[in-house]
Amino acid sequence: MNPAIRRTQMPGRKPLSRAPRRLADAVIALPAAIAMLAGLANAGTAHAAPRAAPIPGGIAIVRLASAEAPAPQAFYMGRPVLVERRDGAWRALVGIALNAEPGEQRLKVVTAGAAGVAERETAFRVMPHTYATQKLTIRDTTKVTPPPDALERIEREQARMVELRTRFRDVASVEADLAPPARGRLSSRFGLRRVLNGEPRNPHGGLDFALPSGTPVTAPAAGVVIDAADYYYCGNSVFVDHGQGLISLYCHLDRIDVAPGQSLRRGERIGLSGASGRATGPHLHWSVYLNGNGIDPELLLAR
Ligand SMILES: [Zn+2]
Repeated sequence: MNPAIRRTQMPGRKPLSRAPRRLADAVIALPAAIAMLAGLANAGTAHAAPRAAPIPGGIAIVRLASAEAPAPQAFYMGRPVLVERRDGAWRALVGIALNAEPGEQRLKVVTAGAAGVAERETAFRVMPHTYATQKLTIRDTTKVTPPPDALERIEREQARMVELRTRFRDVASVEADLAPPARGRLSSRFGLRRVLNGEPRNPHGGLDFALPSGTPVTAPAAGVVIDAADYYYCGNSVFVDHGQGLISLYCHLDRIDVAPGQSLRRGERIGLSGASGRATGPHLHWSVYLNGNGIDPELLLAR
């Protein structure tokens, strides 16, 4: 939860002697709370990124050691996680699976020092969260239930996508604060529980931008293209590896302008938006993965 909002709800419950300070807090916190709520509908508020949101489909930011210590490594569910040096500390950015159960989770921390390799565990807590439900109607039912002859292709592509999104390329520093990959209205948020033609389907694993076909789509941070191909559901798709398990995916492109192995700078064009694959209309579907788990891309957007 947002501490600024909680603080504004607290006055009157604290000792009287602290009243002047509480009032000051409330005066400062209320506009911040309103701005935060407004920011949910309209990205125009100043926020540093990445933001911690230890919920399913969110990010846990776990302090590992002081910045003077040698760089530790951290592992979550057997996979290495992104470790960065920021605010005077080494900290892990842990991607939490959308289907994770709330409760205590463990992180393995490995530090190499003069005395050898030390290993310890640290815990963090996943808080419960309920995402909104979205009902969709699609007239072309082949897009809801794929024809039997497409199943083999879909299965092959799903395995390929798991392999791509679980890669870990060790780089010294990662640009974990992302720029929006396109300019446009957000049409579908991450985590929406979708009901297609009355049937519950997988929750939305990305963030959708409503864009006319042909709108430039750009790299949100430096990275390397690890796949650029036509997928059954995602259509013309590009995967970008930003390093240390931070991977991004762009779907339904009309045109792909990059090739696997190509290095990208932040802001460099990936392609043009479109409606390829199984899309209800032209838009950009953008997914972001951290240690293999799809997370809410908005948590990585500075705004
Ligand atoms: Zn989408």
